Amino acid sequence: MGKPTGFKEFVRKVEPYRDPKQRLLDYEEIYTPHDEEHLRTQGARCMDCGVPFCQSGEGCPVYNLIPEWNDLVYKGRWREALDRLHKTNNFPEFTGRVCPAPCEGSCVLGIIEPAVTIKNLECAIIDRGFDEGWVVANPPASRSGRKVAIIGSGPAGLAAADQLNQSGHEVTVYERDDRIGGLLMYGIPNMKLDKDVVDRRVKILEQEGIRFIASADVGGSGANGIAVQELIDSNDAVLLATGATTPRDLKIPNREIEGIHFAMDFLRAHTKSLLDSNLEDKAYISAKDKNVIVIGGGDTGTDCIGTSLRHGCKSLVNFEIMPKPPVERAADNPWPLWPKIYRVDYGHEEASAVYGNDPRVYSISGKEFVVDDKGRLLGINTVEVDSSFQEIPGTVKFWEADLILLSMGFLGPEHYVSEPLALELDQRSNYKADYGKFQTSNEKVFAAGDCRRGQSLVVRAIDEGRLAASAINAYLADH
Ligand SMILES: Cc1cc2nc3c(=O)[nH]c(=O)nc-3n(C[C@H](O)[C@H](O)[C@H](O)COP(=O)(O)OP(=O)(O)OC[C@H]3O[C@@H](n4cnc5c(N)ncnc54)[C@H](O)[C@@H]3O)c2cc1C
Ligand code: SF4
Repeated sequence: MGKPTGFKEFVRKVEPYRDPKQRLLDYEEIYTPHDEEHLRTQGARCMDCGVPFCQSGEGCPVYNLIPEWNDLVYKGRWREALDRLHKTNNFPEFTGRVCPAPCEGSCVLGIIEPAVTIKNLECAIIDRGFDEGWVVANPPASRSGRKVAIIGSGPAGLAAADQLNQSGHEVTVYERDDRIGGLLMYGIPNMKLDKDVVDRRVKILEQEGIRFIASADVGGSGANGIAVQELIDSNDAVLLATGATTPRDLKIPNREIEGIHFAMDFLRAHTKSLLDSNLEDKAYISAKDKNVIVIGGGDTGTDCIGTSLRHGCKSLVNFEIMPKPPVERAADNPWPLWPKIYRVDYGHEEASAVYGNDPRVYSISGKEFVVDDKGRLLGINTVEVDSSFQEIPGTVKFWEADLILLSMGFLGPEHYVSEPLALELDQRSNYKADYGKFQTSNEKVFAAGDCRRGQSLVVRAIDEGRLAASAINAYLADH
């Protein structure tokens, strides 16, 4: 423990984001540069608890050795901090940017004082590692002669690929999209996770020997299609890491009208156009000068808000079916559980900077999309709902909109990969495979990440990828 009285001397201070009005002018990351002195002070706040809840159970899903690297940062021993961080997390540059930090919700200091700024420290350690040139390709010393195919290149597929490659197996990652990274590439927008940060890691994995094949649609029937059975026959094991890509729809009247889009169609096209042509090819759904309504919250909703604002939308409203959360933990949500409290994310802050108010409207549900006599979208009629999501009579309200984005979560993976194998599904239509074993009803086929557990977080996908790699290693040892 670096400074025994640090938690009494220093207050929590999170690294600020760039000024909202400035950052809205570009698609650069929202973060400000790291300040070493500030970070050392924040690291000194860690109490090095006897039982560090932050790194277990309700805290960090990959069991990051948080108190150890907090202490090393306080002492200025960044290289060692990086080594400790990489022991549990393959990609801290992703989680250090996008993780909602459940670790901070279960930080023991959080019982009496604001928690340690763990996520900032994680990000600073890995960024320092790249700046200093400490993060370099480290191919395995020997090869096992075994082959593993991974379908899907999101954080689950990448973490599994990294682990299996380091075990000496020959790993090939198949990705149906034209760029590698899954939702790290085409879901989470640039301002939250710069795509150079994703490419930089993929390049290192390639240098270490992993083979990436983009535009390879496993199970697909088009020109890029590859039969899944072909991969099973030509590999010793196959891992499905295909994500939860089926969006939840809002099946109310006039749903088919032009101007209503799934959030991922909006976000993916935007990022692709930004990367391909700096938006000059216009191959995206523009929010410019439009009245935009985002239906649904969470990270995806926030990303739709941030992207629409950068396009230059005219107005913006965000509907939440849930009631507004409390500012402090409720009695049934005690420490060390994830605090279900009112939070202002980057998109909400930006909307407030532009329009003067938080764009969120709570306890509200869409009743019908409204069209004019030529069938063009005019907006949406909503109703207020009670805590059981039942309509409150007499609360119908019309909201004008030219663009409506549906961000209501996902319903598991698409099934064209699993159908030819007749894989068992769970009750929520995910691939059925127990956590810890990750083996599907076909013994040679494993599943990890959102396609197995349902829509979740980057850090949980990394955890699943790592553990699925261990399960595959154990299987290969016996077969
Ligand atoms: C818009 C958005 C924002 C988010 N923001 C955050 C955030 O800020 N923080 C956070 O922690 N989490 C966030 N999440 C959740 C997080 O991104 C996911 O939980 C995580 O990416 C899941 O990882 P995965 O590897 O399981 O799947 P994915 O990242 O979904 O990757 C699956 C990949 O498989 C590919 N694939 C699917 N089928 C095939 C096939 N047949 N053949 C070949 N390839 C295929 C897909 O194209 C995709 O690239 C966000 C999610 C969304 C949608
Ligand atoms: S990965 Fe997430 S939960 Fe784990 S230490 Fe980093 S911010 Fe915290």
